[in-house]
Amino acid sequence: MRNQEKHFMNGEWVASTGNETTEVINPATEEVIGTISLGTKEDLDKAVKAARAAFPSFSKTSRNERVEMLENIVRGYEKRKDELVEVMTQELGAPLKVSEEVHYKMGYEHFSKAAEALKSYTFTEDRGGHTIIKEAIGVSGLITPWNFPTNQTSLKIAGAIAAGSPVVLKPAEITPFAAMILAEIIDEAGVPKGVFNLVNGTGNVIGDGISSHPDIDFVSFTGSGAVGSKIMENAADNVKKVALELGGKSPLIVLDDADVDEAAETAVHHIAMNTGQVCSAATRVLIPESMKDAFEKALLNALPKFTVGDPREDHATGPLVSKKQWDTVQSYIEKGIEEGATLLAGGTGKPDGIDKGYFAKHTIFTNVKNDMTIAQEEIFGPVMSVITYQDLNHALEIANDTVYGLAGYVVGKDEKTLKYVAEHIRAGQITINNAETDYFAPFGGFKQSGIGREWGDFGIEEYLEVKAVMGLPTA
Ligand code: NAP
Ligand code: MG
Repeated sequence: MRNQEKHFMNGEWVASTGNETTEVINPATEEVIGTISLGTKEDLDKAVKAARAAFPSFSKTSRNERVEMLENIVRGYEKRKDELVEVMTQELGAPLKVSEEVHYKMGYEHFSKAAEALKSYTFTEDRGGHTIIKEAIGVSGLITPWNFPTNQTSLKIAGAIAAGSPVVLKPAEITPFAAMILAEIIDEAGVPKGVFNLVNGTGNVIGDGISSHPDIDFVSFTGSGAVGSKIMENAADNVKKVALELGGKSPLIVLDDADVDEAAETAVHHIAMNTGQVCSAATRVLIPESMKDAFEKALLNALPKFTVGDPREDHATGPLVSKKQWDTVQSYIEKGIEEGATLLAGGTGKPDGIDKGYFAKHTIFTNVKNDMTIAQEEIFGPVMSVITYQDLNHALEIANDTVYGLAGYVVGKDEKTLKYVAEHIRAGQITINNAETDYFAPFGGFKQSGIGREWGDFGIEEYLEVKAVMGLPTA
């Protein structure tokens, strides 16, 4: 069993100044897999102090030095692959294959792409009457959720290191171990002490402490909208810059010329992947009225390919991350039934034959109206809402009738229509016909899905300030 009751600061693992701890649970077995310390405000202060002390020299390191650090991190990350894959299956419940092909891969991509983007990043630009110099913003506080333990952490750390900004990271307390392995990787990569600090703890103590800390200049947060608002409020005190990656209720628009079976499979994939605990998942599936019967049949055909079960076996879907998340998902399923949507598949309770672990059934609601709770609120579980539309404008109207704007998806054949849809969904990232993810592409939300963009060069930009210099000597 893991017992990592220390925080990482100023280049070493140190004991907490307090003695509160919490157990980390494997959601597939409900067994305790380890214990972490719940840090105190004093621990946080020490970490911020270390980051502040590292700032003057780290922010003046050369591009090449930071490229080298990032490339060393990539190599260290590759070396720890088996451990990272294993730990994410344990703490999150991701099937081993998903842990490797999605979670491990995303962290790898973010460090590599940041190194590549840094090589050609324009920090200084002569614009005639003035020169623009982009400089590291200062000390950054990073607060991350549990649903992608290496992705959410790596993309922020990578952008910050590329920009020259020291950080204090607070990973989600229920999935801390992948982040703690990252700390070891970064420590061995020649990153100066104090540049990377990790304090474990609760959102209420360490998260709140980061967003209200007078010596932190920027907070990059990924998580729920409610906490995002609270962070903005706290950040107002010392006028911190904030970047927020929040929730979504993204649409998948199925065009009338789409292959029905492929579209149905895509739709099921979105709720099966990571047990639907994906901020950018398509959870509202918009289909032409005329396709309704065929699409429902195709969904039922596709469903058995996505099995739910032990993440150590070959299943598409593991458990939800926690009892709390399981309860939330159950109550949304009840709400859907109560509000009059039709349950096409799944429902409340655990899948047949499973009694241990926080497993839920892949659940599909049809005859959903977009104003129902299940179509408006983020469920963060394997629950799909199928909504019919009359024509393309109606589809777009439904797609955009949401407070969110993180992602959008469209499948179909007519190129002009695909392009039209991509241009008219109000969201930060649009994917046409399951196109492959490009990790250089910016990621972030319109509307209440957030503020700011991460990944690649946009991810570096987040950690920079813009300075304009008039009369800069050219010598
Ligand atoms: P959450 O409750 O907002 O937690 C996210 C992080 O914030 C955790 O580290 C949490 O600490 C911390 N936190 C909690 N209360 C805080 C406070 N008062 N001040 C500062 N930090 C605080 O979200 P979650 O339930 O873990 O994650 C699910 C949500 O994240 C969903 O809404 C999802 O859409 C969103 N999400 C968005 C993206 C994106 O990129 N847009 C990606 C993934 C997830 P604890 O560890 O103590 O909980
Ligand atoms: Mg939480």
